[in-house]
Amino acid sequence: MARKVVLVTGGAGFIGSHLCLRLFDEGNRVICLDNYFTGRRENFGDRYIELLHSGRFEFIRHDVIEPIMLEVEEIYHLACPASPVHYQYNPVKTIKTNVVGTYNMLGLAKRVKARILLASTSEVYGDPEMHPQKETYWGNVNPIGIRSCYDEGKRAAETLAMDYHRQHKLDIRLPRIFNTYGPNMSVDDGRVMSNFICQALRGQPITIYGDGKQTRSFCYVADLIEGFRRLMETNFHEPVNLGNDSEIDMLQLVEAIQKGIGRPLQVIHEELPQDDPVRRRPDLTRARELLDYRPSIPLEEGLKHTIRFFQAQLGVD
Ligand code: NAD
Ligand code: UDP
Repeated sequence: MARKVVLVTGGAGFIGSHLCLRLFDEGNRVICLDNYFTGRRENFGDRYIELLHSGRFEFIRHDVIEPIMLEVEEIYHLACPASPVHYQYNPVKTIKTNVVGTYNMLGLAKRVKARILLASTSEVYGDPEMHPQKETYWGNVNPIGIRSCYDEGKRAAETLAMDYHRQHKLDIRLPRIFNTYGPNMSVDDGRVMSNFICQALRGQPITIYGDGKQTRSFCYVADLIEGFRRLMETNFHEPVNLGNDSEIDMLQLVEAIQKGIGRPLQVIHEELPQDDPVRRRPDLTRARELLDYRPSIPLEEGLKHTIRFFQAQLGVD
C-alpha cells in the first residue's frame, strides 16, 4: 500500500491509539488529533518517545467541533466518547461532537479531496427488532432518551457523510462498529469489559445491570483495526458492520472473566439503564463478502491480553 499522510481524530483514545500505531508501522505519516476528553498520550506506552522522534508522527490538541485546516490524504474520524458513562456526562457536547465535529471533518475531506472513514456504531440499530443486525436494518432508536445524544448523533453523522458522498462525490467509508475491547480501554471507562475486569482484579463485586441476560458480541481491537484497514482500501461507500459475531450474555461474560483470572467472583445486580439494548450481534455477511473479514481472536485470548493490561494499570495480579 502507498504511504500516505493520515489524520486520526480521537487518535489518543482506545481504538484510535491502536489504529495510529498500525498506520505508523505501515510507514504512513500520522497526525493524531484529540481533545483528551477520554484519550491519553499514555496509550502509546513505550512507543511514545519513538513516535515523537520519528518525524512521521504528530500530536495535535484540538476539538473537532472547531474547524481545522490540514493537508492530509486520508481521515479516520473517531473523535467521540464511546462509553455511555462518558457520552452521557455532557450530552449536548456529545451530539455537537457527532454532528458539528463530523461536519467539520467532512468539510476538511472535501477541501483536500481526502478519503474519510467515519467510525459509526451498532448503536444506530438501537434496541434492535432484527437479530442479528444487517446493514439494511433501519433500527429502533429512541430519539429523546439518554442514549440519543450518541445514537441519534451517529445516525445524523452517517446521514451527513452519505449526503456529502451524493452531493459532493466525497469518498466515504462507514464501518458500524460493534462492542470492541482490549488494552488501552481506561480503567474508569465505564463500559462492561473494563468495569468487570477491574472489579474482579480489585476483589470488588461484579456489577451486573439487570438480570445479565442481555447479550453483546465482543470484538478484540486488533480484529477491528484489520477490518478498518481492509474497508479503507475498498471503494464501498455504504455501511459495513465490523465486530465479532459470537454472542454472549453478561452472565457468561462474568464466567469467562472468572476463568481468565482464575478465582471465584462475587456478583451484585444493579438497575438496568434506560434503553439498554436487549440483544446485539452483527450480521457480518457484507464484511465477509466484501473484505474477506474474519475476526480471528476468540474471547478467551482477547481477555488474556486485556486482563494483563489492566493488571499493569492497577498494579495488581
Ligand atoms: P474513546 O472514548 O476511548 O476514544 C474517543 C477519543 O475521542 C478519545 O481520545 C477522546 O478524547 C476523543 N474525543 C472525544 N470528543 C472529542 C472532540 N470533541 N474532539 C476531539 N477529540 C475528541 O472511545 P473508543 O472506544 O476508542 O471509540 C472510538 C470511536 O469508535 C468513537 O467514535 C466511537 O463512537 C466508535 N465506536 C466504538 C465502539 C467500541 O466498542 N469501542 C463501538 C462503536 C463505535
Ligand atoms: N453492563 C453491566 N455492568 C456494568 C457495565 C455495563 O451489566 O458495570 C451492561 C450494560 O447494561 C449493557 C452491557 O453491559 O447491557 C454492555 O454495556 P456497555 O456500556 O459496555 O456497552 P453498550 O451498552 O453501549 O453496548
